[in-house]
Amino acid sequence: MEKTVIIGSGPAGYTAAVYCARAMLNPVVVAGKTPGGQLTQTSDIENYPGFPEPIGGFDLMENFRKQAERFGARLVYDSVKSVVCPESGPRQVALEGGETIETMSVIIATGATPRWLGLESEQRLMAKGVSACATCDGAFFRGVPVVVVGGGDTAIEEALFLTRFASKVTVVHRRDQLRASKIMAERALTNPKVEFAWDSAVVEILGKDKVEGVKLQNLKTGAFSQLSCEGYFAALGHVPNTGSFDIVTKDELGYIVLNGNNSYTNVEGVFAAGDCADRTYRQAVTAAGMGCRAAIDVERWLESKHS
Ligand code: FAD
Ligand code: NAP
Repeated sequence: MEKTVIIGSGPAGYTAAVYCARAMLNPVVVAGKTPGGQLTQTSDIENYPGFPEPIGGFDLMENFRKQAERFGARLVYDSVKSVVCPESGPRQVALEGGETIETMSVIIATGATPRWLGLESEQRLMAKGVSACATCDGAFFRGVPVVVVGGGDTAIEEALFLTRFASKVTVVHRRDQLRASKIMAERALTNPKVEFAWDSAVVEILGKDKVEGVKLQNLKTGAFSQLSCEGYFAALGHVPNTGSFDIVTKDELGYIVLNGNNSYTNVEGVFAAGDCADRTYRQAVTAAGMGCRAAIDVERWLESKHS
């Protein structure tokens, strides 16, 4: 039987793996469909501490992997279908490939996925002007116009943040009323750098190798128009990757609920870390920090149960 299985290989999962491996827990990391996690989908990371020069997201996550493997973490390239926790006996981690791993403890670190419009051009121009994270990528858009899609608090927060860098921020929203809270909406509506394209949908992001504009459709009149911009930010919310984990308590958006200021879930021996349990910060460094906490919690929990 394993001492611990870590589900997910993003900053949270790999950091938990480094700490668990150094604590001689011989962790197994189930990498999932995106080994390395969300950062492998982006180019330069400028805000991960310890790297004075930008580092590519893929390279950063390769470093995480090598560090975890150096201390003996074992990677399994599969995805978890379910976790079952019988009243007595080991926890059972069922993999999509058919294998079931028996383990004393589990760390769920499966991240969250930004919601996209689903346009082909979003995929094609990803990290070439297309982003879902203003905190991460806003600084790349100094003095140029950008577009934010969405009308909720995330969209307004992203738009306001982007006004620090961009020459103009246009919020494209499919209705003529914001979903965002009144106070946030008011801030955006009165900010001279923020403009709104109401009742509008982005039907295409324009540009061959980088974002040059968006094609809009007015949903009331059906009319098409074009807007020049160099950045496109999808701000349609996130979906936590927690569908396989109905054993733990989740909030109304699907994020795993932690048992206070730690990584314990409501299920004995099941811990959670990173974006799947964090609807507020969702940054690589916060996910890594949560992975560290989960590993320390697991180590102490195992000691208390099995010493
Ligand atoms: P993730 O990185 O999402 O990793 C989740 C892992 O879980 C993946 O390995 C996946 O394969 C695995 N998984 C999911 N489901 C299963 C399953 N059922 N079974 C097994 N494994 C599973 N943050 C920054 O701090 N700076 C930045 O510059 C930055 N830029 C970003 C750019 C983009 C385009 C995006 C999308 C995000 C960016 N972020 C950035 C946010 C950052 O990537 C996340 O906050 C961070 O990756 C979260 O780490 P995590 O380990 O919780 O989850
Ligand atoms: P959200 O409230 O669900 O808003 C998503 C927005 O995206 C909505 O305006 C929605 O339009 C739009 N949208 C969704 N799918 C779309 C599509 N296919 N095409 C076009 N538009 C689409 O998500 P969120 O903004 O991420 O907020 C999630 C939760 O976190 C909320 O409870 C929010 O209050 C909270 N939050 C709070 C803060 C803060 O207080 N500072 C910051 C961020 C988030 P419709 O409005 O037409 O549905």
